[in-house]
Amino acid sequence: MRMKIKKTIAIVAHDNRKKDMAEWVGYNWKELAQHTLVCTGTTGKLVEDTISQKCKEHDAMPPQVIILKSGPLGGDQQLGSMICEGNVNLLIFFWDPMQPQPHDVDVKALLRIAVLYNIPTASNRSTADFIISSPLFHLDYKPIIKDYSSYISRNLDV
Ligand code: PGA
Repeated sequence: MRMKIKKTIAIVAHDNRKKDMAEWVGYNWKELAQHTLVCTGTTGKLVEDTISQKCKEHDAMPPQVIILKSGPLGGDQQLGSMICEGNVNLLIFFWDPMQPQPHDVDVKALLRIAVLYNIPTASNRSTADFIISSPLFHLDYKPIIKDYSSYISRNLDV
């Protein structure tokens, strides 16, 4: 899907990474407020609170924040589905490298789908900083999607 100048940015953070995520969102609120945000449940509430507070302080219009189910209740899968449908442009996913999650399989599936659909993905603050400060972030951009049809037809031949 072509990325328009106004993008849909998915933000997800595991519990031990929510503080990092909220700091990053608070620091980048002005930039993020120009886009549509889509988040898993608990992350979404934190993102919404953080950005609406900043917007209030600066008399700015808060962004639309779409809040899905909490990650362990299927939120990661909902996001994966949105990526497949071409409805997400960027993924900021602060996953926890130190602790297993009850929904680890969903986490893996989301990361796989993000790679499959060539979605720029940040798993840590440095990468998130690089993405948000990239000149491409402000442009109309068309990611190249690999043609996987040979995989499908090969499977059908078996
Ligand atoms: P949460 O889900 O935003 O509801 O905490 C995140 C996750 O665990 O994937």
